[in-house]
Order: sequence, then structure tokens, then C-alpha cells
Amino acid sequence: MLDYHLHLLRHGEDGPYRVESVRAYAEMAAARGVGEICVTEHLFRFRQADRLLHGWWDADPDGRLREQTAAYWAEHATGDLDEYVEAVLGAGPAGAPIPVRLGVEVDYYPGRMDEVAALLAGWPFDLLLGSVHWLGAWGFDQMGDPVVDEQWESREVEAVWDAYVAAIEELAATRTADVLAHPDLAKVAGIVPAGDLAPWWDRLAKAAAENGVAAEVSSAGWRKPAAEAYPAPSLLARFKAAGVPVTTASDAHELALVADGTDRLRGLLAAAGYTELRGFERRRPSPWAV
Ligand SMILES: [Zn+2]
Ligand SMILES: [Zn+2]
Repeated sequence: MLDYHLHLLRHGEDGPYRVESVRAYAEMAAARGVGEICVTEHLFRFRQADRLLHGWWDADPDGRLREQTAAYWAEHATGDLDEYVEAVLGAGPAGAPIPVRLGVEVDYYPGRMDEVAALLAGWPFDLLLGSVHWLGAWGFDQMGDPVVDEQWESREVEAVWDAYVAAIEELAATRTADVLAHPDLAKVAGIVPAGDLAPWWDRLAKAAAENGVAAEVSSAGWRKPAAEAYPAPSLLARFKAAGVPVTTASDAHELALVADGTDRLRGLLAAAGYTELRGFERRRPSPWAV
């Protein structure tokens, strides 16, 4: 098994990024039956991303959302990407019990992904996760923030899912990312359209398959109001049918949650018929054991 989605800092916590933290993550993962980890801090934690992308939220017509996202970025974009990369690379191979890969979790910035890819080419990443956390300037998974929650109350859930799936389709088509993180994150708040979800699942599976992007199977959804892994079993079945390779992940933002739910994820994979995972080194895929 893999844990290919790990953050060294909690939201609201600042650096520095330390080799010791990365080693502790590797030890915890190894103790929980994981054979390889990839550390994937959010790109928006770094000043280098802020310099490139600052103000991307200005395209949203809603002033309250623009303001909330600007404040969120100001709070998060404080780290140094070089320091982070050094901490992760410094943890292996001799000092960690299992291999430690270098990654980053990259959001979808419409029309800006060529610039993002050019920025990221400056570091030796093993894996780029692709995520959609914002629809326009609405950071829809930041539940508990009143500005965010208000949107969940006022928007039609079908429109939210349409916008989310369209963003994933666009992100996949840019081919910036190797793996789609938490592919059905639109369900994070536990608000799901009534009736048949198949049309959305089909679009997500097609987007991954057509663009050669893998999908992440993550225990993080069990810790959210969605109360279900990402992806839902019926979406995972579609990924399998479409030939989409998968990684496994915890999306931990703290040591105690590293490799969280590994055994449950194994059960999901077995039920969907997956007998193999996809590993990455310097963005080249290779097979990995479940
Ligand atoms: Zn994420
Ligand atoms: Zn994450």
C-alpha cells in the first residue's frame, strides 16, 4: 500500500519544514503497513506560488468570496518551496524506513496551468496531485467558515456538482497532474444530489481515462461529513471499468493520521477488483502492490 497524499502542516500552522517531521511520517506509515509515502504539501502554502498566482480569485464576481479567499491565501502562502523540497529529499533514502517521494498538491487555476507547470518544472517532483478545492473563489471544502457555508445553503447542489465535475474535466485535460486527488470532493459537506449520480461518475471516469491520469483512493472522506471514502464505491467501480490506475492516500495533515484507514482502503480496492496500485518516481509510473 501507499500513502501518496500527506501534508506536513495543519491549516493555520506555519513552517518550518523539517526533515525530522518527514522521517516521523515515514515511520508511522511503515508501522501501519504502507510501503512508500509521498509528501504532497499544498502548492498554495508557498510564496513562489503566491508570486505567480496572487489575485487569481479576482475573476469571481462575488466580493465576499474574493475577500475570504484573499485572506485564506494570505494566511497560507508563507512557506518556502526550496525549504520544503530540501526537507523531503533530506529524509531519504538512508534515514527513513521506507522510500519517501516528493510531491505537491496542485489546485486547478483556470487558464493558468501552463504557468503552474513551468514553475513546478524547477523541482524534481515524483508526483503532482491535481485537486479542485475552489469553484470560482468559493473554497467549498472549508466548511465552518460562514462565508463558505452560506454558499452551501444558497446554491443548488446539482449546479455545484456540475461546476465541480467540469473543473475536474478541465484540470485533467491540462495534463498537469499525475493523479486526481479526492476525485469526488464535491460530496465533502455531505450534501449530495438526489437520484442517480451515474452521469457525474461517468464524466469523472472518462476525464481520468482519456487523459491518462490516475485516481486517488483516500480515507480522508471518512473523517468528513461525507462519511465515505473518496471515491464512492460506485465511482471506484467506474474507474476500474475504464482502466484508470489508482493510488492510496490518507491526506493527513498531522502525524497521527498518516496511513489512516489503510486496512479499510484495502477492502474497498478488493471489492472493486483492484489488485495493483500505481507508484510514481520522477513522474514515471510503475506498478505497486496493494
Ligand atoms: Zn485536497
Ligand atoms: Zn490534501
